[in-house]
Amino acid sequence: MSVTSIISAIAENNLPFDSENIESLASRYGTPLMVLDCDVVRQQFRNLQQALPNVDLHYALKPLPHPAVVSTLLAEGAYFDLATNGEVDLVSSVGVPADRTIQTHPIKRDSDIKHALSYGCNVFVVDNVNELEKFVAYKDDVELLIRVSFPNADVLADLSKKFGCKPEAALEIAKRAFEIGVRIKGLSFHVGSQTKTGDKYATAVRRCIDIMNEVVDFGLPALSTLDIGGGFPVQYTPDVLPISIFCKPIREALAELPETVRVIAEPGRYIVAPAVINIASVMGQSDRNGQTWYYLDDGIYGSFSGLMFDEAKYQTFVLNSSQELFSSVLAGPTCDSIDVVAEQIMLPKLSNGELVVTTMMGAYTCCTATDFNFFKRAEVIAINEAVVFEDIITA
Ligand SMILES: *Cc1c(COP(=O)(O)O)cnc(C)c1O
Repeated sequence: MSVTSIISAIAENNLPFDSENIESLASRYGTPLMVLDCDVVRQQFRNLQQALPNVDLHYALKPLPHPAVVSTLLAEGAYFDLATNGEVDLVSSVGVPADRTIQTHPIKRDSDIKHALSYGCNVFVVDNVNELEKFVAYKDDVELLIRVSFPNADVLADLSKKFGCKPEAALEIAKRAFEIGVRIKGLSFHVGSQTKTGDKYATAVRRCIDIMNEVVDFGLPALSTLDIGGGFPVQYTPDVLPISIFCKPIREALAELPETVRVIAEPGRYIVAPAVINIASVMGQSDRNGQTWYYLDDGIYGSFSGLMFDEAKYQTFVLNSSQELFSSVLAGPTCDSIDVVAEQIMLPKLSNGELVVTTMMGAYTCCTATDFNFFKRAEVIAINEAVVFEDIITA
């Protein structure tokens, strides 16, 4: 079994997996370690592309801003969704042509706009008139998307509270843009992360079609782009819909758009979550109140920060296949009592130094990790990276 198939098998929770490769990676690189399998990134991209044909997928760098993810996706023909100057610098260093990127942070400093423009990215997002007016100085160079908000109580992270204008306000922003000579290219929305069903997108797409009609009825130039955002869910738990079924209502709603409208999406989590496993080791242990506590070299302040910030659910495995299981606690290394990764988890007896493997760790994990207490963040290593993308860059 190759490392890839092992990691894919782990990612799909098809145990048992080959423990030898996990052990050799851990002894070669040390722990805590994050292993990023670019083959899984590739596969996730293809799955989503198949579920959303004719949609240009812009990978949102936020959940895992790693150069190997960028180069792998570039070789697959992906586009990129950037939100910060650091993300601009990352795709630029990998050689992503700027016309494959958009800058989607709804609130930007003038220096952020300049930074993206100097790279060559000229599509930006606004959700209010104050932001729109920042673009007067660049009106000959930029095209904007208006971000519309659709409340979504049903997701892990409801982003509609923080960004996006009310659907009723979009026409007003488009009118003002026309007055000041700034081009509006289209509309965007983001329903929130790890969304439960595709229905939210379908409703949002239909409301956006209405807005596009209002814009034309008012006599403004027709909008040519619809950006349906990210939020596509991964199987942290078995009840999550497979992506093709999840996207069915979205495909149906998109079919109602005029053919001239280009549709784009900004997937983040879906592309990377299953592509990374975490390998941690047991630093020490103690029996406390009838449970064995294992103190790992990675925790809440490290790669497991998503347990705080993202409410994700990960699955943890050990390589030791002993059948006798005990109620155990997995704690992180820091001296803080909230640094606990899993409680009442059934595990065999572990020795100090033994490895603990956690799957589905690609999204919103190491990017939100800290060095609290001077515990170093896990190293991220990439396997099965893309090598050739020269032709894509020049295409
Ligand atoms: C975070 C973010 C994304 C990615 O969301 P996922 O849920 O990870 O797919 C896409 N677009 C915007 C604007 C974001 O802020």
